[in-house]
Amino acid sequence: MRSSYRSAVRAPIQTVINVADAVLPGHRPVSGQLVRRSLWGALPSTPAARPDTINRLAITVDLDYQKDTDVLVRLVDLMGRCGAPLSVAAVGALVEADPDPYAYALAAGHEIVNHSMTHPDNPILNLDEEFWNLTKERIREEIGQAQRVYEERLGIRPVGFRTPHFKDTHKMLSVLSEFDEIRYLSSVLATTSPLGAEPYFPSAADRTWGQQLSPVESGDRVELLQLPLTACPSHRWSPFCSWHGIRDGGGQGSGMHSLAEWEALWARMLTDRTDDGLVVVYFDPHDLLRDADTEAAFERMVRLAMSSGWELHTMADIAEAYRGLATSPERSGVSS
Ligand SMILES: [Zn+2]
Ligand SMILES: [Zn+2]
Repeated sequence: MRSSYRSAVRAPIQTVINVADAVLPGHRPVSGQLVRRSLWGALPSTPAARPDTINRLAITVDLDYQKDTDVLVRLVDLMGRCGAPLSVAAVGALVEADPDPYAYALAAGHEIVNHSMTHPDNPILNLDEEFWNLTKERIREEIGQAQRVYEERLGIRPVGFRTPHFKDTHKMLSVLSEFDEIRYLSSVLATTSPLGAEPYFPSAADRTWGQQLSPVESGDRVELLQLPLTACPSHRWSPFCSWHGIRDGGGQGSGMHSLAEWEALWARMLTDRTDDGLVVVYFDPHDLLRDADTEAAFERMVRLAMSSGWELHTMADIAEAYRGLATSPERSGVSS
């Protein structure tokens, strides 16, 4: 992937963007939309190098509803039986409402990840906003208020951020730079990232996408590492997640696999990704613990990964491992 991503992924995407902008006069330029609603305007010219021969797997969970909080203790106990860590993407408002399960997860050694204060476009907490349409001031509130809640209720300030609904916006980079403790984000799908599965530092200095796609503001932080999410082997436009895989009645694109099929896809994905040495997946806890069969299948999946050579790590630990060898703009002498 490293040697071929430029020709295999990036060039065709740029071509599609250019053609779309040329043939759709009067419409908002596709390139402009991508810059506003992604981090594509901030791509560096090279992804980060795999640091060593260790195969790293991050199991992350996004808790968007109280029903996810309600099963967190059971999930922590399941992971404890396996001896495996979790990265827990927590919504500030839900932590404030019911902090004890999150404190339990933290005490068991799991990581808490900032998933915003109100999760814009959440039907219960904040139906009226979408993350990629927020002003910088609102983004600052969403990230900062959540950091304060974690600090007050749990005694920690998370080092990672995951965008609600993965609705990245370029504006968030400079806002995230105001939070010195935040070291990484995980908000892009590996198969739709022009840089593929490998982590990268969104760069303020690089302009290789051309002027259309690089309105990167000076002062944007460049040492924030992006950890892409791994896709379903059968559906490259969807992450390997429980909503896509097994959710009942979740709308279009959800529940695409039987439980048995999903478990088999897990094994296939781990085999497919061995050369990359990195898998990042996310699940909704209320899906994993919806019934005894699903819970048992998930536990088998965790144990299969561990017995087939994958080391489970938090995203924070993975970010630090890649940070050691990744080519950041500062390292290559480019100042922002
Ligand atoms: Zn979410
Ligand atoms: Zn699928």
